[in-house]
Amino acid sequence: MSVDAAATSDATDPAWSAALLQLERAATTLKLDRGLLEMLSVPRRAVEVAVPIRLDSGATTTFVGYRVQHSLTRGPGKGGLRYHPDASLGQTKALAMLMTWKCALVEIPFGGAKGAVRCDPGKLSIGELERMTRRYASEITPVIGPGRDILAPDINTGEREMAWVMDTYSTVAGHPVGASVTGKPVVVGGSRERRRATGIGVAECVRLSARRAGLAEPVDVVVAGYGNVGRTVAESLAEDDSFRIVGVSDLSGARYAPEGLSPRALASHVDAGAELAEFPGGEPVDREDLLTMACDVLVPAAVGGVVHAGNAARVRAKVIVEGANAPLTTGADDELCARGVEVVPDVLANAGGVIASYFEWAQDLQAMVWADEEVTRGTLAKLGSAFDEVAGASERLGVGLRDAALCLGVQRVAETHLARGLYP
Ligand code: NAD
Repeated sequence: MSVDAAATSDATDPAWSAALLQLERAATTLKLDRGLLEMLSVPRRAVEVAVPIRLDSGATTTFVGYRVQHSLTRGPGKGGLRYHPDASLGQTKALAMLMTWKCALVEIPFGGAKGAVRCDPGKLSIGELERMTRRYASEITPVIGPGRDILAPDINTGEREMAWVMDTYSTVAGHPVGASVTGKPVVVGGSRERRRATGIGVAECVRLSARRAGLAEPVDVVVAGYGNVGRTVAESLAEDDSFRIVGVSDLSGARYAPEGLSPRALASHVDAGAELAEFPGGEPVDREDLLTMACDVLVPAAVGGVVHAGNAARVRAKVIVEGANAPLTTGADDELCARGVEVVPDVLANAGGVIASYFEWAQDLQAMVWADEEVTRGTLAKLGSAFDEVAGASERLGVGLRDAALCLGVQRVAETHLARGLYP
């Protein structure tokens, strides 16, 4: 297999262009100095590495990996590692930049980073995945670590991969370094609450935005993408009589019930190994159609770009809370906002995960273990403050929640740059 050209080029990457455009918009609203804008437009460091591995067949193949540290101004880099055939340098740069604004917005002492290996993990055996993860980790070891850049799970990576990264890093260091990654298994210093933190945070944003929009109870919620995040959202909201989960979907299909579905029964059904589409409650609908079914709040919690120019006009939700990263295309976002639909942006809505990661890192650094409730309480407190600040900035600046959130994040990073000064 030869390394493809798209893997090593980012000039025309749409994700990177969109990220730059977002920054430009925030800079214009903030009347940011052009020199500072230029500085924020270039990642602090972007590393591209070869990841050669021996396959089970005995042949060798080489993947391309990236680690981008967009900003190290407010603290070490922080961001996930994804395995995906479409991963590119431009996409990784864009996601790293988003992490910078997200960490600044929720006031945790991190910069923004992201990593990726361009591969199809479904085609690799567990042994091959482990060799790839360890080789990638060893290639980026000089630029990562508890004080430099801390990795976390992202698409197609999880606790298992984080344990491999931590073990590889620790082997080089000669002692265990738990704080080199977050989202690792509890037995190696991971945090139980990290697993649920993103979903719990998204559910909290559903509560806060429903109250802000004055939605009548019970508030009907559709969760599109019943994975780690979506399932936690459904289960968390089900604890509250004010909310009703009327629709859920995953890759197998969708179910819709205006009178409400039971998240507990749904969880038992899926845990027993059955497909969500076969759940004996509500009616089966196409997973694309679920996005436009009647509801008060839509939580897209699967993949990016599911609400687009082709279906935005048919979306009936009054509020959208972005559980996934970038589930709305820019055009759809503009159209929905113009229609008065309140969109709680990803940078705020799914920040619960990175806040809990910060607590995991802090516990590892101090060799302390906090109670689960302490982590949840701390996560919700930080998220709640950020929500209020974004709502306030939206009114003060006369912009939507997304632009307000980005303005707050960009402004904080800019202020830190100015306070630290420019070397030399
Ligand atoms: P996951 O893999 O556990 O779940 C994704 C779910 O979406 C799966 O059930 C899958 O079947 C479903 N799905 C995929 N394509 C779909 C489609 N077109 N329509 C409906 N369902 C579809 O992933 P996750 O960890 O829950 O993450 C979901 C999203 O949240 C991702 O965009 C991720 O980047 C974002 N996110 C996750 C975290 C986290 O801590 N897990 C943090 C921040 C952001």
